[in-house]
Amino acid sequence: MKLHFLGTCAGTEPMLDRKHASVAVECDKKLYWFDAGEGCSYTGHNMGLDLLDVKNIIISHTHMDHIGGLGNLLWNIRKLTQMRSELPHFDGVDVFIPNEDSKDGLLKLLSHTEENFCCDYENRFYGVQDGVLLDDGKVKVTAYHNTHLVRWETDKPLSYSYRIEAEGKSVVYSGDVGLYTDLDPVIGDGCDALLIETGHFGIDIAYDYIKDKNVKRVFFTHNGREIINDREGSLAKVARLFEGRGTICEDTLTVEL
Ligand SMILES: [Zn+2]
Repeated sequence: MKLHFLGTCAGTEPMLDRKHASVAVECDKKLYWFDAGEGCSYTGHNMGLDLLDVKNIIISHTHMDHIGGLGNLLWNIRKLTQMRSELPHFDGVDVFIPNEDSKDGLLKLLSHTEENFCCDYENRFYGVQDGVLLDDGKVKVTAYHNTHLVRWETDKPLSYSYRIEAEGKSVVYSGDVGLYTDLDPVIGDGCDALLIETGHFGIDIAYDYIKDKNVKRVFFTHNGREIINDREGSLAKVARLFEGRGTICEDTLTVEL
C-alpha cells in the first residue's frame, strides 16, 4: 500500500509549495482518492500517477479546500480517456460526497464544458453515511461522521473521517474534525497510519491526543499556520515528541506502508 500526498495544506490562501487537501491511497494498482483540493489531479498526474487508475473518489466534506479540485479531476480523467483511444475499457469512477446537493452543482458546471461533458464511461455518485462505504474485496473503507460540519436545520452530519483497510493494514484519514476525540471510534484499537489534520489544532494537541493510542505512524497533513510559518521548528518538535514515528507531509510525498 502506498500513500501519495497530493495536497497537504489547510484552507489557506494559495501557497507556492502546498495545495489544499488530497491524498491518494494506492492498492493493487488502483487509486482511492481521498479529498480533492485545488490542483490535486495536476499534482498527481505530474508526479506520475495514472488518473485512469482512480477507482473511487471519497470526499470528507464539501469545504473548498477539500472539493475545489474535484471538477478538474473528473475533467482530467475524461481527457485521458479521450487521448488513449486504444484503452481497452475504463470502468468509470465512483464518487462519494457527503452533501449530495453538491453533485448537482458540479455536474451542471461540468456540463457546460467541452461536449456537454459526455463520457463513454460512467461517473457514479453516492452519498456518505456511517458504516462501510465500499468494500471491493481488496480495499474496505468505513465512514465515521465527525463534528466538523453539521447541517444545522437537521443535525445531519456533513463531515466524515475514514478508516481504510487493505493488505492487512489500516489507515485512518481524519479529514477535518471538530475535536480530535471525534477520531476515537475511527482509530478504535489502533491503526498502522494516522493521517491527521493540523489545520485546526497544533502539534502539541495532536501529541496529547495520540500519545496513548496504538498508532504506529502519524502523518501530519492539512497543515495549518504553525507548520507553514515555522517549518524547521515544527520538524524539530515532531521529531522530539514522536521519536521517528511522525512525519510532516509535503506535497508529492509518497510513503510505502
Ligand atoms: Zn479543511
